[in-house]
Amino acid sequence: MTATIPHPDAPPVSTSFEALTTDNAYARLADDCFTRVAPTPLEGDHRLVAISPDTASLLDLPPGEELNQDLTQLLAGNLPFPGGEALAMAYAGHQFGHYVPQLGDGRAILLGQVRTDEGLWDLHLKGAGITPYSRAGDGRAVLRSSIREFLCSEAMAGLGIPTTRALALLASTEEVYRERIEPGATVLRVAPSHIRFGHFEYFYYRNEHHHLAPLADYLIDHHLPHLREFEEPYLALLDHAIQRTAELIAAWQAVGFCHGVMNTDNMSVLGHTLDYGPFGFLDTYDAHHICNHSDHHGRYAYDQQPYIAHWNLSCLAQAMLPILDPDPETAAVKATGYLDTFPSRYDAAYLARMRAKLGLTVHGRDDRQLVDELFAAMQGNSVDFTIFFRTLAGFDPDGANTALRDQFINPKAFDAWAVKYAARLQAERSDPVARRAAMHAANPKYVLRNHLAEVAIKQSEAGDDSEVNKLLAILSRPYDEQPDHATYADYPPAWASQLEVSCSS
Ligand code: AMP
Ligand code: MG
Repeated sequence: MTATIPHPDAPPVSTSFEALTTDNAYARLADDCFTRVAPTPLEGDHRLVAISPDTASLLDLPPGEELNQDLTQLLAGNLPFPGGEALAMAYAGHQFGHYVPQLGDGRAILLGQVRTDEGLWDLHLKGAGITPYSRAGDGRAVLRSSIREFLCSEAMAGLGIPTTRALALLASTEEVYRERIEPGATVLRVAPSHIRFGHFEYFYYRNEHHHLAPLADYLIDHHLPHLREFEEPYLALLDHAIQRTAELIAAWQAVGFCHGVMNTDNMSVLGHTLDYGPFGFLDTYDAHHICNHSDHHGRYAYDQQPYIAHWNLSCLAQAMLPILDPDPETAAVKATGYLDTFPSRYDAAYLARMRAKLGLTVHGRDDRQLVDELFAAMQGNSVDFTIFFRTLAGFDPDGANTALRDQFINPKAFDAWAVKYAARLQAERSDPVARRAAMHAANPKYVLRNHLAEVAIKQSEAGDDSEVNKLLAILSRPYDEQPDHATYADYPPAWASQLEVSCSS
């Protein structure tokens, strides 16, 4: 057999992607929606830090050395995705309340799409280099923030919370300038769509309203075909975004997840968690916790997230007005009618999550009060959010519950609530064994606390990626006991309170 030696300038050929059905339906939208641009190859050496086996299997990609090699080339910007038609998407957005008319994929590139039995998936490479939307940015992402995005994407999926996924993470020796020089990296994100509220805002405020319907049609045709059955499919799309966003934020609140930058350009129309930056999970419960060091006024504080989601949805609805009805007044009435349902939909989704967290199976009239009183008791009492709820599964209505009350600086605050909780459990004749199992399935033992990510980042920056991979494995099954990894469920160390995460990424 004779081996053919490829010409040194010939593009590398992938084998792992050959069997995939690839496409880029987004590239068939009007030219104003995007700019065709290829990734800029990373300089220096690079290494594949991690692959998510769960996301690989979503795309029917068989694991193995071949996949590792192809992903290394793809994430380094050296391998065009077959049939991909790489492009950067145009969008705008309200950032911290102020409208910014021109954003867009400034450092991410839609490499192409994969069609599986489950549907269409975007392959979106973050840190891929400069695009026409980069403004003053360098088009790159640093290893630090890429590890956080990679791990949290997969951790959220493990928690059962809608999210963009991450297929792979590549570290590079290319130097990226932030507050300090940091190693560069790319993350390959996977999601049905990366269309943001800001996509619609972009065309609305440019007065290019003729692009709004095709954008909505794209989402409906490729991802929500059942909405075609409705008399007014665009109104149904808005309705869907409102419902999914309500459910998403309820899911965030229930695990103590703070997004950090809920700008409308970071909100997915399909209701996935999108754009992981200065996010954080609550360690000590504090309703007013601000995870993003750059958020000086707490616009995106933990307890503000539902209100901000509602405000963001009103921005989306505003931008969709021209396609909701030809008559502007009627369009506004329709949009308002749907927007006004957000608070009650959010409350319903939140209460369902909280009932599950408390192990309640029957709907009680005073359940909301029970939940609110619990958080009032936790506030200011230095109670760790995740540890408390996990331990609550062992609550004994007739016992002293020392392991729980000792978590409060003032245990009497817990005692007062525990009396009501015990009565509530007895009223529904709750079975302790079934309740414990159900509560363990609703209250994760493992979440991506900042300090866990920080340890993995430091090690990877020094060339050792084992901690990233260990966290990936642990966080992909956060509800399991995993006794060998119990230290990962411990209280954060004292130094964790000094960690600051900001928009710099
Ligand atoms: P983010 O704060 O990451 O959600 O980004 C907001 C906007 O800034 C988006 O349009 C990004 O594409 C863009 N952006 C953020 N960082 C960079 C960068 N390093 N280079 C180019 N564009 C960037
Ligand atoms: Mg963003």
